[in-house]
Amino acid sequence: MFIRLKQLYNIVGEKVSIDYTVGVERLNEVKGFSFSNPITVRGTIVNRAGIVSLKYSAEFTLHICCDRCLIEFDRDYCFDFEHILVRSLSNDNDDSEEYIVTETDELDMDELVLTDCLLSLPSKMLCKEDCKGLCPKCGADLNQGECNCGG
Ligand SMILES: [Zn+2]
Ligand SMILES: [Zn+2]
Repeated sequence: MFIRLKQLYNIVGEKVSIDYTVGVERLNEVKGFSFSNPITVRGTIVNRAGIVSLKYSAEFTLHICCDRCLIEFDRDYCFDFEHILVRSLSNDNDDSEEYIVTETDELDMDELVLTDCLLSLPSKMLCKEDCKGLCPKCGADLNQGECNCGG
């Protein structure tokens, strides 16, 4: 979804609500992740005293294969994000991390949601924090107890 920002930039007090889903077709393009359902996005963009800020939450379910024991499962996520939208960065914006520069007066919301969400996920996906994984010798799932191979 593209959000038009012209009015948001130009009119103090302007507010736009966001309530939509990022469709599965779009999510299928994401490499390395398998989404079980669309991403639900809810939030607002507000021009407060000339500063345009975006706040939203993203809810989704990932189908995950544990990096250690290879068990497959679904996990729900809900993240909150906050950004300030600017047409260009000035020297006052020292820490540019939360700033989103929109060179056109449109915001590619899908792109932003995906970037935010993927950055928030851990690099290793485990079924549980202390997953014991598989025995390197016999392949037994060590979460089920010790294996008998002596490895
Ligand atoms: Zn596991
Ligand atoms: Zn073993």
